[in-house]
Amino acid sequence: MDRWQTIIEPFRIHAVEPIRLTTAAERERALEAAGWNLFNLHADDVLIDFLTDSGTGAMSRDQWAAIQHGDESYAGSPSWYAFLASVQALFPFRHVIPTHQGRAAEKILFSAIGRPGRVIPNNTHFDTTRANVEYTGAEAVDLVIPEGRQPATIHPFKGNMDVAALERLLAERGDDVPVVFVTITNNSGGGQPVSLANLRAVREVCDRHAKPMFLDGCRFAENAWFIKAREPGQEHRPVVDIIREVGGLADGMTMSAKKDGLANIGGWLALNDDELAERCRNLLILTEGFVTYGGLAGRDLEAIAQGLREVVDEDYLRYRIRSTAYLGEALDAAGIPLVKPFGGHAVYLDARAMLPHIPPLEYPGQALAVELYRAGGIRGCEIGTVMFGLHPDGTEAPAAMDLVRLAIPRRTYTQSHVDYVIEVARDVASRAASLRGFRIVRQPAQLRHFTATFAPRA
Ligand SMILES: *Cc1c(COP(=O)(O)O)cnc(C)c1O
Repeated sequence: MDRWQTIIEPFRIHAVEPIRLTTAAERERALEAAGWNLFNLHADDVLIDFLTDSGTGAMSRDQWAAIQHGDESYAGSPSWYAFLASVQALFPFRHVIPTHQGRAAEKILFSAIGRPGRVIPNNTHFDTTRANVEYTGAEAVDLVIPEGRQPATIHPFKGNMDVAALERLLAERGDDVPVVFVTITNNSGGGQPVSLANLRAVREVCDRHAKPMFLDGCRFAENAWFIKAREPGQEHRPVVDIIREVGGLADGMTMSAKKDGLANIGGWLALNDDELAERCRNLLILTEGFVTYGGLAGRDLEAIAQGLREVVDEDYLRYRIRSTAYLGEALDAAGIPLVKPFGGHAVYLDARAMLPHIPPLEYPGQALAVELYRAGGIRGCEIGTVMFGLHPDGTEAPAAMDLVRLAIPRRTYTQSHVDYVIEVARDVASRAASLRGFRIVRQPAQLRHFTATFAPRA
């Protein structure tokens, strides 16, 4: 690195995708038609789509070239072997089971090990992870450190597991715990990283209680960059080295290649346990496909294989983390309450703090997300009481936090797009006191945020 401070996109544009501009009146009609659920919008009515960083990134020239190498043999495709080699170069687990997404890996794993009476600890379960655990009748317990639940508290590794709480859970209910999960980075807790020291400590506790430790590895490269940037003694290590050590601490992982796989689809389940792997492969064949392609085409396997080589590039990771912080710093300077420090893939607005006049059960996060769209065509995602407030027994309670996540697709938007988002968010913040809450008109029993419909409160 030389002395320049501006972090530029370490790539230039190769294929252009148009963005359709909309008027305020068009957006108002779109909201009404969507039942005020931003998941129901037509994506071409969205100007800047920060709904998720999942599968929405731009692929590289070399990934598109790799797609041409896709071999669609049903069994034993060379594309499968390219994928396997790329995964095992970072995560040398004995068994790698390809799936069409991360949640398919979760569904298979928890179908094999979850059942009523069992309990799965995690720093914070991602929404699909929690749903897949609970679907088996097992209990999903979040054991993130207390700082991880306080949006404004600064801590370099707010995604860390509360090791003492894990120790207590294992002492009390060890027989009911089939696996200990750690999510890197901690998506639902604000995209916060987990330190190497914490991962080692969790490993030590798991060893003492003879429990397997699994990673939800969706953002393993971003997490490794944070370790290199923030953890004493790690600053001189290549990111690839850190990733290999993190992988080596675990007994297995679930992965969505739509995140740090830099691909638009894909995932895997990887593990060392032969007997469990065999049970998982049998479930894979039932729902996903044969063991050398899972739910993926050969061309998808190639795109992931190449993506895994690109995501560990340190110029890319520096740009990625820095450009997320650029958005966070500008919103912070505008006085908007945020989860701090800023996560790797997203900036989280603290809607509960920003809209104190809207009680949690009137969904302040939903109100803020809707207003960002109404004002500027920006689509974020409520991560709060809409997402987590409905319990399996049908009761409703405020979630720990009411956030709006602005998730940044990888290698997709430029700095001027981000400057526009900053301008719109400042405008919305200046009118915060006039925003109103919502009530839910219709909702399903699980994962309601995807399909619920809303009505604005008077
Ligand atoms: C995205 C994600 C998942 C689920 O992956 P999909 O590919 O969307 O099914 C699981 N855990 C975390 C932390 C995630 O971010």
